[in-house]
Amino acid sequence: MDEQLQDAPHISAQPPDGSIGISQRDAPPVSYFERKGRKAPLWKPRRIYFTAAAWEQPHGQRIAERLSALGLPYERLKGNRLPSFKGKDVRARYRDAKNTLAIVNAPPSQLKLQPIPPSADYQFHLAKGCPAHCQYCYLAGSLPGAPVTRAYANLDDILTNNAHYLKADGAVTTFEASCYTDPLGLEHLTGSLSRTIAWFGEQERAHLRWVTKYDDVTPLIELAHNGRVRARFSLNADWVTRRLEGGTADLAARIAAIRRMALPRSQGGGGYKVGAVLAPLMPFEGWQEVYLEMLLDLREALDFEVDLTFELITHRFTPGSKEVLLEWYPNTSLDLDETQRSEKRNKFGGRKYIYRKPDMEALKTWFTEQIGRLFPEGKVLYFT
Ligand code: SF4
Repeated sequence: MDEQLQDAPHISAQPPDGSIGISQRDAPPVSYFERKGRKAPLWKPRRIYFTAAAWEQPHGQRIAERLSALGLPYERLKGNRLPSFKGKDVRARYRDAKNTLAIVNAPPSQLKLQPIPPSADYQFHLAKGCPAHCQYCYLAGSLPGAPVTRAYANLDDILTNNAHYLKADGAVTTFEASCYTDPLGLEHLTGSLSRTIAWFGEQERAHLRWVTKYDDVTPLIELAHNGRVRARFSLNADWVTRRLEGGTADLAARIAAIRRMALPRSQGGGGYKVGAVLAPLMPFEGWQEVYLEMLLDLREALDFEVDLTFELITHRFTPGSKEVLLEWYPNTSLDLDETQRSEKRNKFGGRKYIYRKPDMEALKTWFTEQIGRLFPEGKVLYFT
């Protein structure tokens, strides 16, 4: 992780010439099946804390057993307050926090579920924070405090609580589990995603949706999800996954994972419904060519009958997220120039910067057409 952080000043938001971007368009395409891909390293936090309340939870104990089996030491706190991060500057505090896992109980406020349109009926949370280092991170500026990853030990209560939100008319209610975290990135440490999938597999009227940039799906393949879980993978241009999304699996590894999750059980796969979250879409130079290759790779990997959705999300930022991201990645050349964007206000007066109308229309038209052409079985859920 630290090495990736040290790399950050050299990262460019444009495909770098002579490396892995559009400059290699002329090379004969390498079949997806011949690519190895760069798997995401399994996160080994330098510091792990259990709060006193989390230690009392059955799932807290399960996490402790996992950590011991992995040889990862942890500290039991006497109370429920986490130590503060007193690094010499913002970057040092960021590095410390990003290397820390805290096992805590979700506060009662998180058991009051909020709607999350257009993705799902409700969001609920297995954790808050994530070990990856995405330079456009959606959480930057929206979660207060140091970016420590907090995994929730009161998982049994969290899952039982979901049952209170089922629609009264008997229709299926959908629940999104990845608004504040990447649940697969923590799975080897917590087992929370497997337990959650198993819980939804037993519910007749509740469906689970989650999304990841990681690729180690082995623990999920055999779970009894009963078709009630949609596993979505965040996909982007290969150079974006490698240069702007530190600590994650690259595009080829994510596509290998989505194939494995979607393959029927009879062929050794998980038999899951799957989804591709194409985000954050950016109209960089040569974007059509690069994104076409991404879609062709996905098509090649999904060469069987598959239940597939697409979600199309363009890059955006707020004044708050820009400030935080520039503190974390001071030399990033990710496009954060608000003078080149359209300003949008939400109902509370908050501002965000999205691409201008011609760029938005070009992205929407192109992706809708290409997905319709290449994935007639796929369904585009939304473009934003
Ligand atoms: Fe942020 Fe998501 Fe990247 Fe984690 S995976 S750093 S939550 S954008």
